[in-house]
This record gives sequence, C-alpha cells and structure tokens, in this order.
Amino acid sequence: MMYLGEQREALKVYGKEAICWLSIKIKGRWSNKNISGHKCADDFCKYCNSKMGKRKSINHDFRDLFSLSIIEELIVAKPKRLIEITSQLEVLYILLGYSGEDFNFEAKKIFILSGYKGWFLNKDKYDFEEKWNYKLAKLLGKHTCTYCNREYIFVYKKEEGRGMVPQMDHWFAKTDNPLLGLSFYNLVPSCGTCNSIKSDEKLNLDEHLHPYLDEKISDTYKFNYWFKETHSPEIILEENTVISSKGKKTFDALNLPLIYKGHSDKELKDWWKEILPILEHNQKVFLKIGKNKSKRIKYMEKLND
Ligand SMILES: [Zn+2]
Ligand SMILES: [Zn+2]
Repeated sequence: MMYLGEQREALKVYGKEAICWLSIKIKGRWSNKNISGHKCADDFCKYCNSKMGKRKSINHDFRDLFSLSIIEELIVAKPKRLIEITSQLEVLYILLGYSGEDFNFEAKKIFILSGYKGWFLNKDKYDFEEKWNYKLAKLLGKHTCTYCNREYIFVYKKEEGRGMVPQMDHWFAKTDNPLLGLSFYNLVPSCGTCNSIKSDEKLNLDEHLHPYLDEKISDTYKFNYWFKETHSPEIILEENTVISSKGKKTFDALNLPLIYKGHSDKELKDWWKEILPILEHNQKVFLKIGKNKSKRIKYMEKLND
C-alpha cells in the first residue's frame, strides 16, 4: 500500500465542488425563502448559480439531521472524525424512532445513488464536465493502484472508445457507511482487482493501515522473491519485515500475497528470462578472472557504467 499524504491541494479543489453540490442537495440553495440553504463565496460557482435544488423524496427527519457545517465536515474531515459524525447522526436518528437500517437507507439515496453514482461518476443530468474519478486521480497524482502498486490506473480518456478508468475505493465500505460515499479521505484510487477484493472487507482504523494517515506504510511489510524450483522465481512476503499486526491485517484484507503470487508466473519469470543470460555471462567472466582482485574491480566498474 502507498501513503497518499494529506493532499491539501486536491482536497481544496474537490472540497469546493463537493460541498456546494452536497449542501444544495440536502439543504437547497440559499434564498430569502430558504435561509438555511447553501450559497458559497464564489460568485461564479456553477452549482450555486445553477437551477439545482434539493434531492426529493428524502425523509424529512433525516434531512434535518444535517447542518451546513456537518455537510462540510463530511466532505473534508479526517477518517477518525468521519466515523464519529456517522455514529453521532445515526444515534440521533434512532432517538427519533428510526432504525439503523432506516438511517443507511436514507444515506444511500443521497450519498451513494445521487452523490457517488450520479454526481461523482457523473451519470446524471448535471453533466458539467469530466467525471470526478478521472479528475481526482489526476489531482492526487497517482498512476498506480494505491493498494497493490502493481496495476496502472492511467488517467486518460479517449475521445471515442474506452480509456483506462481509475476506480475509487471507499476505505470505509459504502455498504456499511453510505454517509461517507463522498468524503475525500475515504476515496482511494485503486485498480479493479483491489477494489473488488476489498469490497467485502470491513476495515477499521484500530486494526488496518490507512493510505491517507499511515506515513510509514511502505516500511510495514516488504516482498522478496525466492526460487521454488530452478529458474522459477516466486514473490513471497519477507516474514521478518512484518513489524505490526496492522500491516499483517491490512495485507491479508487486501489479499496482497495472493495478488503478487499471480505475478510470479508472469512478470517475474519474464524478468528472470532477461536477467539470466547476463548473470550467466558474468559468472563465466568471474571464473576466468579467478581471484585476481584488480581485474574483478575493473570488471565491476565496467558493469556499473
Ligand atoms: Zn457554490
Ligand atoms: Zn490494486
């Protein structure tokens, strides 16, 4: 897994649009008649100046759970705070006589169906411009999958036909936490394989590494290769480098050992095929040179050129 960092610039660009879109969908646009509605400071904001209105058929009590500042937090807050907000709002909703399922049902309508699938993936009528999965992957400056760093998630779109589509994984799964469907620090650019492997996993901050939080992710575990038979290299996990149980739980959840094992049969073998003749040649030269130290040094210098 790769560390993504705080990504403040990307957050600023994404946050500005996501906050306006979501606020209007929940609270409506500000007007004399709707003083609890949303209006941002940007006179040219495409959302605040559009004809967009509230998302209809949302439970009245559910809508009232949200203030404009809570909506903003749901977009920009760090993972720990996101989970706090979710459980606080759910408790409030339950106190009003609803169930946890009711809460997720309403949250799914606005945050996943309208929000993530409609606005973020841009399949609805507010087709303003480029899809957010492309835009966000570009802003984050990521070209490979955050989880496996194995698959490219090229950020380009062909005029016609298909380009590579970077997928956004929800670190807190969207089935259990639909309220976090649009939260910046819950969106992780990933490849299709990792996204589908992870979709069934329930990750939590106490037991798993988070790509926006855990700075030392890449020190947590290392992979190496060994030869299960002659000329048949295989990728393995370096057991002694697993320094935390968080690391172990994370790569188990992402099934990384299995994903990399698959590569042993392809890329690693190709690489070995290329490198083997070079190694064999070097061995021959070394045998010829024998123990002559200065000749060895000269030869090594030539190799390093
Ligand atoms: Zn706005
Ligand atoms: Zn991946």
